[in-house]
Amino acid sequence: MDIGKDEGVIKCKAAVAWEPNKPLVIEEIEVAPPQANEVRIKIVATGVCHTDLYHLFEGMHKDGFPAVLGHEGAGIVESVGPGVIEFQPGDKVIPLFIYQCRECRFCKSPKTNQCEKGWAADRYDVMASAESRFTCKGKKILQFMGTSTFSEYTVVNQMAVAKIDPTAPLDKVCLLGCGVCTGYGAAVNTAKVEPGSTCAVFGLGAVGLAAVMGCKAAGAKKIIAVDINPEKFEKAKVFGATDFLNPKDHSKPISQVLSKMTNGGVDFSLECVGNVGVMRSALESCVKGWGVSVLVGWTDLYDVATRPIQLIAGRTWKGSLFGGFKSKDGVPQMVKAYLDKKVKLDEFVTHNMTLAQVNDAIELMKHGECIRTVLSVSPQ
Ligand code: NAD
Ligand code: ZN
Repeated sequence: MDIGKDEGVIKCKAAVAWEPNKPLVIEEIEVAPPQANEVRIKIVATGVCHTDLYHLFEGMHKDGFPAVLGHEGAGIVESVGPGVIEFQPGDKVIPLFIYQCRECRFCKSPKTNQCEKGWAADRYDVMASAESRFTCKGKKILQFMGTSTFSEYTVVNQMAVAKIDPTAPLDKVCLLGCGVCTGYGAAVNTAKVEPGSTCAVFGLGAVGLAAVMGCKAAGAKKIIAVDINPEKFEKAKVFGATDFLNPKDHSKPISQVLSKMTNGGVDFSLECVGNVGVMRSALESCVKGWGVSVLVGWTDLYDVATRPIQLIAGRTWKGSLFGGFKSKDGVPQMVKAYLDKKVKLDEFVTHNMTLAQVNDAIELMKHGECIRTVLSVSPQ
C-alpha cells in the first residue's frame, strides 16, 4: 500500500475481474478517499463464496464488469468521510452487502431485512455498481455487491458496515459477511424451524452447512443433508445432520425418496444450491398442510416453477436474502455468538490462501473441493 500523490488516494493490490469467464488479475488499483458518509476499510481477510463464481461464470451480465469481486470480508477502518461518527480508524468491521439505513419502511418493519438503499435495492441483475471509488489503468472499476473484498482497501457507505467485537479473529468472522449468516438465518429467521421438526437441506457448501447448523440450533430432530457430492456428508455431520442423501444413488425423484423416508414429507426444506430444478424438488419434498421451503441459492437466469396444487395443498414457498438478518444489527450479534461458542465458524474453513492465490481458490470451489477458502488480504 502506498498513499499516492493525489490527496488521500491509496494505491493497493486488488483482484480485478476484467471480463466474464476469465481468471481474475492482480492489479495495482487506486482507491479514492471516502466521501460523505463513507468508510474506507483495510480488508484483512475474505472468504470466497459461490456468488462470486456465479457473477464470473454463470450470470455474466456484461454491465457488471470490470469489477472487484468478493463480498465476505472483514477488516479495519482506515479513514472515514465527512458525517461519519459511528466509526473511527482502527475499528474492526464487516462490510455488508445489504444496507440497513434504519429509516426506510423496510428497515422500520420487523418483517424484513430488505433495506431500500444500496445496490441491492434494484440491481440484482448487474450485481455491481459504478458507485465505486476504484480506478485501474485509467478505467472505472465497479464495486461488486457494494463491498468488493478482493482488494486491500475498499470504500463502503456507513449504512453497509457493521462494527464488531475488537477481539474477533477477522480470518474467521469474515464468513459472517455472507455464507454463514445466510444459511443459519435462512433456517432460524426465514423458515423458522421448530423444535422436534424434520428438515432437509439441499446443497452442502458453506451456506447449506450453516443452514444445517441453524436447523440444529432451532431444535430440529431430524436433519437430512442432500448433496450430489457425497464427500460433503462427513462435514454435514459435524454441523448436526442426522441423515444423508445423494440424489445420484436413487432412480426416483428425490422428493419421492424424502417423502417416503419421512412419512409424507419434511416440515422444512432449504435450497442452498442455486438451481431451479432443485428449488422445485425442495418444495415438493415438503409435507402438505404446513411444509415450508426456503430458496437460498442464487440464480437469476431461469424461472422457477411448480404445479399450483403443491401450494394449494398448504405448502409455503419463501426466499431468504442474507438469512433475513438486518445486516448492521445481525452481524455483530452473530460475531458475539461465535465468541460465546454458540455458532461454529472454524469448521467451515478448509483452506487458507493469500489474495494472490484467488484463482486457485475459485478453482477449488468450482470443483467442489473446499467449503470455504479464506484469503488473507492485508496484514493486520
Ligand atoms: P458451494 O458451491 O460451496 O455449494 C453448493 C453445493 O451444492 C455443493 O456442495 C454442490 O455439490 C451442491 N449441489 C450442486 N448441485 C446439486 C444438486 N443437484 N443437488 C444437491 N446438491 C447439489 O456454494 P455456497 O457458497 O455454499 O453457496 C450456495 C448457494 O447460495 C449459491 O447459489 C450462492 O450463490 C447462494 N447464496 C445466496 C445468498 C443469499 O443471500 N440468498 C447468499 C450467499 C450465497
Ligand atoms: Zn456470498
